[in-house]
Amino acid sequence: MPKYIIVTGGVLSGLGKGIITSSIGFLLKKRDYNITAIKIDPYLNCDAGTMNPFQHGEVFVLDDGGEVDLDLGNYERFLDVNLTRENNITTGKVYKNVIEKERRGDYLGKTVQIVPHITDEIKNWIRRVAEGHDICIVEIGGTVGDIESMPFLEAVRQLYLEEGEGNVVFVHTTLVPILKVVGEQKTKPTQHSVKELRAIGITPHIIVGRCNEPLKKETKEKISLFCNVPHEAVFSSPDVESIYEIPLILEKQGITKYILKKLNLPYKDANLKEWEDFVERIKKGRKKINIAMVGKYTALGDSYLSILEAFRHASAELDAKVNVVWIEAEDLETNGIERLEKVDAILVPGGFGERGVEGKIRAIGYARENKIPFLGICFGFQLSVVEYGRNVIGLDCHSTEIKANTPHPIITILPEQYGIKQLGGTMRLGAQPIIIKEGTLAYSLYKKKKIYERHRHRYEVNPEYIDLLEKNGLVFSGIAEDKIRMEILELPEHPYFIASQFHPEFKSRPLKPAPLFYGFIKSAIEKKYG
Ligand code: GLN
Repeated sequence: MPKYIIVTGGVLSGLGKGIITSSIGFLLKKRDYNITAIKIDPYLNCDAGTMNPFQHGEVFVLDDGGEVDLDLGNYERFLDVNLTRENNITTGKVYKNVIEKERRGDYLGKTVQIVPHITDEIKNWIRRVAEGHDICIVEIGGTVGDIESMPFLEAVRQLYLEEGEGNVVFVHTTLVPILKVVGEQKTKPTQHSVKELRAIGITPHIIVGRCNEPLKKETKEKISLFCNVPHEAVFSSPDVESIYEIPLILEKQGITKYILKKLNLPYKDANLKEWEDFVERIKKGRKKINIAMVGKYTALGDSYLSILEAFRHASAELDAKVNVVWIEAEDLETNGIERLEKVDAILVPGGFGERGVEGKIRAIGYARENKIPFLGICFGFQLSVVEYGRNVIGLDCHSTEIKANTPHPIITILPEQYGIKQLGGTMRLGAQPIIIKEGTLAYSLYKKKKIYERHRHRYEVNPEYIDLLEKNGLVFSGIAEDKIRMEILELPEHPYFIASQFHPEFKSRPLKPAPLFYGFIKSAIEKKYG
């Protein structure tokens, strides 16, 4: 029978609950427990696919094509597992299922209600995902007290009642602010949020206090006394240089031992040396390189979270540290490209829509002509084709996403995307096989003929232009199995100019950097340090 760890959040959002959840999972996995994780997002959207990254952070894509909350990316990176869309529950998904059942007549004669029908649906879902695993960690998004999260909290309260003591552990994460004037760590917000949780019928077993600095002994004691948890059940999660340090910090305080005791599961020591070394390498990185990120949501770093993590994974293996120079693509249109002159490499990430397109194309052209290491991802791949078509071949070309009546639709949609009206979940999504040509840069990076990478796009290189592009020197080194879709492009005369239709960042993991990022950082180092 699986056991459950439920992680809730108090006081405010953005505390790093996802990292704490991932860290706990990581530590338990190191004890050979088979772990899975669920993120509950109390919003009404069925998935994150139609959400603006500027408001909500990046949309993470799974192997099965699920477009999910970015925390699933953290789980995959810390746990080194591949999750499915089932691991992300939203209010929208739950209500949709219940309403479909009601229309089918599954509840015939009954009044369909939040308790028990919605809460049953939630519990069944959690149990379904947990099946076959030793421990399932469930993170409830939002903050205790929000209207939206009520049915989920009620569902996990029932889950505890049904599974019983020793099978479910509640971890509550809260903020411990420091009042500047007195320099004191304040526990009142924590006390209030625990009170709120208890009013719902949930008594936390463990409290993790997020604070700028480590929690003092007195602070832990106060939280213990006022929140009714033992002293050894209060843990401190201070600000750190790298999120990958968090498991080590929690481990030192004995969190794994405590959780396993609460779950009546045996404890054993774990060897964390490999991870400790990885964290050290991330922190030490001696070769400092500046990478321009030319995008559209650059005001919120979370919009490109997986790319930033992929930089870290690759840099850790190359003794490097990346400084990201955020460049709003639109600024390159109005203010010129001077800012690009100071960087060691340029990345044009995925994106949608017209804003900033010409700026991105200028950045790509600049990288190509000046032999600056370049990585293009998805939209960045498509715009590299447009740039090549325009400035090398001399075509008046564009993507039909941006200019429907362009004389040369070099990027366009293929028949299966014709006439799609519903926008949610209809792109080409998830892991797809790609065949790599031997003797290319892509092959030297992947060292494999067939790879699987994750996709999220509607548009493609127009097959009618492929010959022309290749005759003019562009090499398509990765091609989908159907031989129609172009997946990777590169320029043999350039030290590192590569772009992919897929998103390599979604599969980058600690100690297993994504090959395209590894090569990218390596060439940036070579450019700067020779
Ligand atoms: N807008 C492009 C498309 O739909 C690229 C998408 C992306 O970058 N994720 O194909």
